[in-house]
Amino acid sequence: MIDKAEIAERYEDVKSRIADARKRGESYHRRLMPDVCLIAVGKKQPVEKIEVLLELGHRHFGENRIQEAAAKWPQLKKEHPDVVLHFIGPLQTNKVSEALTLFDAIHSVDRPKLAHRLSAEMQRSGKRPLCFVQVNTGEEPQKSGVSPSETDAFVRDCVERHGLNVGGLMCIPPKDDEPSLHFALLKKMAERNGLDLVSMGMSADFELAIELGATHVRVGTSLFGPRGTNV
Ligand SMILES: *Cc1c(COP(=O)(O)O)cnc(C)c1O
Repeated sequence: MIDKAEIAERYEDVKSRIADARKRGESYHRRLMPDVCLIAVGKKQPVEKIEVLLELGHRHFGENRIQEAAAKWPQLKKEHPDVVLHFIGPLQTNKVSEALTLFDAIHSVDRPKLAHRLSAEMQRSGKRPLCFVQVNTGEEPQKSGVSPSETDAFVRDCVERHGLNVGGLMCIPPKDDEPSLHFALLKKMAERNGLDLVSMGMSADFELAIELGATHVRVGTSLFGPRGTNV
């Protein structure tokens, strides 16, 4: 049984922590902080939990696997056509067409081949999703994302050569590192590239990310509780 009241409580808690973090950011930086879009990450969560947030009026959701999203979202989107779906996982080029059918924003544009395919599929489908370039701020060999030194050139290529609608940058800091260094770096790189949007911060660190200027936080377990293994 899904405990609706518990999810509603978690949702209120996350929203008030977001508001508080924004206020702290404003007093540190002595300027207005951007609005924050809360992306509720529904990966490996039962549809019933997602439905609780939909009933409460929440509209921005994230998924990290095309296959799982394709099983869950077409029906939910039919019931709630104003949902905005964010793809936050690694994207294979052979899944781009399906990604464009399902998703309104792609947070993981991380290599030239993917940018090229997105561009081709955009022309074919007429869709123009909001894109974030994923930056591997920790330069971890196993992690996706362009390296910080290549980011400016890659962003320019995505916009000028491929015609992508790049609105911002995204990062996932290394597990054992102080995330604030990565958040501050990503924010600086976005500003340097004239990009307004910054997708950073998850359950463990979204408040810190907001204090450092995040516009999009991706929160799963703090909203829905622990993830299942086989959803
Ligand atoms: C799973 C995931 C999240 C959410 O993680 P939580 O710690 O559950 O909030 C955020 N971003 C990405 C890219 C993810 O894969």
